[in-house]
Amino acid sequence: MNQSVADTHFDVVKDNRMLVNITSLSRKSETTRPYETHGIAHGNAELKQEEIAQPKKDALLRHFVESVPAAFAILDTEMRYLAVSQRFLADHLISENDLIGRSHYDIFQETPLSWREFHKRGLAGETIRHEDPLSLSGGGADVVRWDIKPWFEAGKIGGIFIFSEIVNNNANNEKELQLAAMVFHGCGEAMMITDAGNRIVAVNPAFERITGYQNKDVIGQNPSLLNSDRHDSAYYRAIGQAIHGTGRWQGECWNRRQNGEIFSVSATVSTLFNSDGSVHRRVAIFSDITHKKEAEKLIWQQANLDSLTGLPNRRLFREHLSQEIRIARQADLPLALMFLDLDGFKYVNDTLGHDVGDILLVEAANRLQACVRKTDHVARLGGDEFTVIVSNLPDSASVERIARNILKKLSEPFILGNEVAYVSASIGITLCPNDAAEIEELLKNADQAMYAAKQQGRNRLCFFTQSMQEAAQVKRRLVNDLRDAIERNEFQLVYQPIVELATGIVRKAEVLIRWNHPSRGPISPAEFIPVAEETGMIHEIGEWVFREAADQALQWKNLHHPEFKVSINMSPVQFRRPDRDGAAWADYLDAIGLPGKNIVIEITEGLLLDASPEVTSQLLAFREKGITIALDDFGTGYSSLSYLKKFSIDYLKIDQSFVRSLAQDNDDMVLCEAIIVMAHKLGIKVIAEGVETEKQRSLLTTSGCDYAQGYFFSEPVFADKFDAYIETRTHVGEHIFYI
Ligand code: C2E
Ligand code: CA
Ligand code: CA
Repeated sequence: MNQSVADTHFDVVKDNRMLVNITSLSRKSETTRPYETHGIAHGNAELKQEEIAQPKKDALLRHFVESVPAAFAILDTEMRYLAVSQRFLADHLISENDLIGRSHYDIFQETPLSWREFHKRGLAGETIRHEDPLSLSGGGADVVRWDIKPWFEAGKIGGIFIFSEIVNNNANNEKELQLAAMVFHGCGEAMMITDAGNRIVAVNPAFERITGYQNKDVIGQNPSLLNSDRHDSAYYRAIGQAIHGTGRWQGECWNRRQNGEIFSVSATVSTLFNSDGSVHRRVAIFSDITHKKEAEKLIWQQANLDSLTGLPNRRLFREHLSQEIRIARQADLPLALMFLDLDGFKYVNDTLGHDVGDILLVEAANRLQACVRKTDHVARLGGDEFTVIVSNLPDSASVERIARNILKKLSEPFILGNEVAYVSASIGITLCPNDAAEIEELLKNADQAMYAAKQQGRNRLCFFTQSMQEAAQVKRRLVNDLRDAIERNEFQLVYQPIVELATGIVRKAEVLIRWNHPSRGPISPAEFIPVAEETGMIHEIGEWVFREAADQALQWKNLHHPEFKVSINMSPVQFRRPDRDGAAWADYLDAIGLPGKNIVIEITEGLLLDASPEVTSQLLAFREKGITIALDDFGTGYSSLSYLKKFSIDYLKIDQSFVRSLAQDNDDMVLCEAIIVMAHKLGIKVIAEGVETEKQRSLLTTSGCDYAQGYFFSEPVFADKFDAYIETRTHVGEHIFYI
């Protein structure tokens, strides 16, 4: 077999009779061991080598090499490229200028062809099979198998690379490569490929679009150029460790665009390994999830933060509390839970408007936060209710200090635009684990303690005590019993006469409810009405009272006098029922045939303060029906003259507290007189409550008070006793009954 490579691969016939000699391509002229170049006869005539001129041979050879439709390259003894086919250039994505004259090892650093092996086996005349990863012009990469033939010059060895085959080459593979290229370029997700040295070697158009960096800006750079300061170095170190350890990482992180903007990505990093296990490439794929993140954040905020103050809301507060309870248990350090309710906030809201009220709440939230440590949690449960979790509590004295400071800070004036407002706070405090260790119990405790602080006169703090719990238990039992009371007919109505002072005639009766509890006996409405209001049971009770009282009024209208009135107490809560039908009571009166003028509705001052459109329209409906309105407990609330006029009140009931200590020339006397004069000026009649003595009666009579009720005349009594009472008075003849 011939040692020369030329015989096999370069003895090429052109136009049927051309021979070429590889030596002519050599840039070195001296030839220590000339190649034997064999002519191969084609056709009938054999052409002698000398017959072809050397320059022509060179040109022909070059022409041949360039145009041969296979990947093909000739390297000199220093492994520098001498000549290559066009196909070789195309397959390697390299230009002739970049290749010719340069060392194979400079250009294709990764080709793991051992020179020594090539030399050794080449000298023995062996053809070497070499597999080489090759980027294909269609995109993608594949392993290409080469035949490398040695050739010799001055004892040195050169090489001829001849493309043999693409390993596993088949149509599918080619398609897959095309597909991969398409995906890379057309993918909506950013792709970034780095080499083993963590230098970026390729990025796709989506990367350019998302990051703002152009291909040329990033090739050769470290991917850390995308890092943002949203994460510390430990975070990036952890990602690096995951990638080095497993070759993969998946997660979300905040990056920085070229314009400095921070954006969030969901990313996957995977690694392409060489056959020896070393890293060949890493591929990072990421998509921009900033909008998604922002939407998520918004949803989170809406679910967890109070939109007015930005404080955690009830939901997040509960989460924080259960977290802190867990920590307190583990660290054996107590925590305190405070419930805080602003006193007088409602008044600010009603008099200065909700917008001003909102500013006050925001300011109150700021003051609260300034009173606690960063690690404590302030939350707004709604309205003017706040909570504070004070964790890591060294002793209960320190929470008292904090609470006192809060009281002080909240009672300072609030400057709200042009207005100055004053509020205070009632604070309930419970300790974990001292009072309770469970979330629900702590909430209940703090609430009870807060309620106690309110009861004790506001602007104060109250620690939870066991007796509060007992009181709460009593209340809970009361609630349960109240539920059954209507069905079990445990309620009764009593009536207290209302006497016209000038004549002594009983003109009206106030109806008052009694609860005859099966085990506790009679329970005062002052005890159970607030509970019924709180639980909403007042609606059912109120309806029952109205119908019973109307039925009674009908009887008395017929029995005593066509103008006789029964006065019914109506809780503000009854007005607030959303499904309340204003006409329902009027319909009932129509059904039983009782004119509205025989009914008086007693309302409280608070209702007018808080008068919503529903309250106003309900009062109007009463008026249209001819029902009269009395303002109960006058003088204890915030009523102003403007309310009295606005809501056309018929009667004012002076509260018992003024009547009780009535004496000639004392303050209460002056007040009563003033109320009477003022009411008369507004066309309003006055009823004095709680008249117990003859002295009170006579003072009120001389002051011009219109009506009076109280133990002096009669206690509230059952209807039959009421009739008897009237009977007696008429018999005695002391007072004339109905003239
Ligand atoms: P109120 O409307 O101010 O009723 C007057 C209260 O004073 C009644 O107490 C009555 O028994 C009591 N009283 C009457 N005369 C005198 C007196 O000379 N001296 C003293 N010290 N007290 C006198 P009662 O019946 O315990 O009712 C307490 C409150 O419960 C009532 O105060 C009213 O606000 C509420 N209430 C009673 N019945 C009803 C009802 O049917 N519906 C609603 N919503 N509230 C009711
Ligand atoms: Ca009343
Ligand atoms: Ca009253």
